[in-house]
Amino acid sequence: MRVGGRAEWLLEPATPEELCQAVAAVREHGLRLRVLGGGANLLICDGLLEGCVIATSRLRRVFRPAGGDGGDPHELAEASGRVAPAPLEEDPRLVAWCGATLQGLVRRAQELGLSGLEMLAGVPGHLGGGVAMNAGGRLGWMWDVVERVRVLGGDGAVVDLAREECAPAYRDGNLGGRIVVSAVLRLEVDHPSLVRERTREVLLAKNAVQPVVEASSGCIFKNPDPEISEGRTAGQLVDACGLKGLSRGAALVSPLHGNFIVNRGGASAEDVFGLIADVRERVAEATGIELGTEVQRWRNGD
Ligand SMILES: Cc1cc2nc3c(=O)[nH]c(=O)nc-3n(C[C@H](O)[C@H](O)[C@H](O)COP(=O)(O)OP(=O)(O)OC[C@H]3O[C@@H](n4cnc5c(N)ncnc54)[C@H](O)[C@@H]3O)c2cc1C
Repeated sequence: MRVGGRAEWLLEPATPEELCQAVAAVREHGLRLRVLGGGANLLICDGLLEGCVIATSRLRRVFRPAGGDGGDPHELAEASGRVAPAPLEEDPRLVAWCGATLQGLVRRAQELGLSGLEMLAGVPGHLGGGVAMNAGGRLGWMWDVVERVRVLGGDGAVVDLAREECAPAYRDGNLGGRIVVSAVLRLEVDHPSLVRERTREVLLAKNAVQPVVEASSGCIFKNPDPEISEGRTAGQLVDACGLKGLSRGAALVSPLHGNFIVNRGGASAEDVFGLIADVRERVAEATGIELGTEVQRWRNGD
């Protein structure tokens, strides 16, 4: 969205080990800890954000699990001393550290001829944010392909969770505030040109309905329970209430998609927070439906 101020402290670990050390250091100093992925679903307050932000953008490795029996798929081949990956047909998995970009992953899968990530075409952000937020859309969710996730808990312990041990929900990886370190993604072998074609179709469909070239934070509101909203999405409700084009300062409800707020240049975080409150209030007045926010907000005191 290109709004918000600066962090009091910023740490940028480059390996999972450094991430664990960074988290331990923040806790030792009694600072409020926040984890930043690509910032694609995030609104940060104006001015100084107290505490420490750990940015994951340097943790961007993506690799195929090393071959050999019974090894740890999260471990890099060079670290484990194991052999080259098995043929794709035998092991169609990718491992990604939390700072790997979702679009880099989509591209890598496409090049290798691995299907399963096409639904994330055009979704900005990182693997960690995608898993934490269960990114996706009509065609599927991040967790559809997550086989295992390595997380760092509040007690500093690193734990591997199998998909079956997790209960991801709509726009919520449900990880109880734990930090995603890396994930193993199980994909399916397919012809690269077919994967490319499906990826392209998803991207074109997305670009036609979302203001992808403007500064935004993706969808602001979660879609309400269809039984309550009679099947209408949050964007459709905003549109039905005539709120497209509503603005505060330079923050504007996108005329293209009612669930997007765009920064026309120079908006403050306060403008955006205020506009979100205006939209919620007016939708509730007109329909009785309280929209919950999907976008994450970082403010002092939260
Ligand atoms: C133009 C546009 C289109 C979008 N389209 C879609 C879409 O189609 N579908 C969709 O689902 N989303 C969409 N989004 C929203 C966004 O891309 C996703 O929510 C994405 O998963 C956010 O990832 P991120 O790394 O940027 O997370 P951030 O915005 O950095 O963080 C979001 C939340 O995840 C937490 N987080 C980040 N990294 C970690 C980690 N390693 N461990 C634990 N928690 C972490 C943060 O603390 C924060 O609470 C769109 C956004 C934009 C701007």
